[in-house]
Amino acid sequence: MPVIAVVGGQWGDEGKGKVIDSLAEKAKVVVRFSGGDNAGHTVINPSGEFRMHLVPSGIFYPGVTCIIGNGVVINPAVLLEELDNLKKHAVDASRLVISDRAHLTMPYHTLLDGLEEERRGKGALGTTRRGIGPAFADKVARMGIRTGDLINKDLFHSKLSSILEFKNAILTKVYGHSPLLLEEIFEQYCRYGEQLAPFIQETNSVIHQSLARGEIVLLEGAQGTLLDPDFGTYPYVTSSSPLAGGGSIGAGISPMAFNRIIGVFKAYITRVGSGPMPTELKDKIGELIRKKGHEYGATTGRPRRCGWFDAVAGRFSAQVNGFSDIALTHLDIFDGFPSIKICTAYEFNGETLNYFPSDSSILEKCQPVHEELSGWQGSTRGIRNFDQLPSEARRYINRLEELLSCPISFVAVGSKREQVIEVRPILP
Ligand code: GDP
Repeated sequence: MPVIAVVGGQWGDEGKGKVIDSLAEKAKVVVRFSGGDNAGHTVINPSGEFRMHLVPSGIFYPGVTCIIGNGVVINPAVLLEELDNLKKHAVDASRLVISDRAHLTMPYHTLLDGLEEERRGKGALGTTRRGIGPAFADKVARMGIRTGDLINKDLFHSKLSSILEFKNAILTKVYGHSPLLLEEIFEQYCRYGEQLAPFIQETNSVIHQSLARGEIVLLEGAQGTLLDPDFGTYPYVTSSSPLAGGGSIGAGISPMAFNRIIGVFKAYITRVGSGPMPTELKDKIGELIRKKGHEYGATTGRPRRCGWFDAVAGRFSAQVNGFSDIALTHLDIFDGFPSIKICTAYEFNGETLNYFPSDSSILEKCQPVHEELSGWQGSTRGIRNFDQLPSEARRYINRLEELLSCPISFVAVGSKREQVIEVRPILP
């Protein structure tokens, strides 16, 4: 029963959508297991260009069942918009299944997310303000509303009414905001519920029947390891675990069933929002990477911070996930660079650190120790075979493998589906 998890190895936006799109052809089930519509996985294929916020990136293959797992929080308005867009592009989304255990983002979540970011002022976390953090907080505080609740209107009304009483007290008394109206939210969400009802069901049996048949199940991670609430740069992190371990919980699959865990890394590194980033380049090179890589957020449009590959963070990420393979994307962005640097250690207070510090205030002060490798001329975008890459590009890839102690099995050299080099087969 091959379960293959595809997880972001950095701060998100590594190109997971493209990797899933390439692998999904041979899969039977693709499951999103964490995050919410703060994700924006870009898929470019013959059907068009899509930003997948909630629907798994496997939806473009007719034989693939796509599950929004219990570990995701769903904004129904965004999901319906996404389904509408797929329909406009003649993509059949009837194989979508939504876990009845997945929680919903509600209007008070979005509102409180924005109000809380305003209150933090200069200390803002740089959230996407989509209510994801507040929705996960309510899940853990046992006052969340799940997709399954939309099916039973009486129960939904009574839950919403008691939760909203509390949320309105916070809105009015803490933030001086006007209260939200119960009946307005109730009616709006009942309409969403009617539209989504055909997709909502218990998903455990769907996944486990597929595993029992020996089919390939792909777990599609969102965000990236360095945004994990435990292992990321706390508090500048996301609210659910993007790790492979999060895939086990967010989809309901035993860790024993995992065959491969693929870490997706860019050939450099990017970050959106606040928080430490030791290899950030605030110079012309950073600007060049941003321009060549179109490094602007898929969800927010914000310019991404760009820097050299951070192998200290990468090694940490490989350890906490247990990557069996790495998918390296955006190699083509370095085409024509005279030289390329890799951060191999940090310097902090005159000492060399070979590990990723857990304290963000220490990481903030870490200076990268760089190793410099020769770049290559010419374009890698048309190359489909590892041996045909320029020797300097192969050297760069091999050096990253050494530093992360993990094989790079897949290299992407462009945004299109076919622009990949399969170094070693990932799927049987
Ligand atoms: P995700 O959230 O991890 O799926 O990543 P995003 O969709 O936010 O960002 C990845 C962006 O890079 C998308 O626009 C992809 O089309 C693009 N992309 C993915 N792989 C490559 C690559 O190898 N080269 C280039 N030039 N672009 C890529």
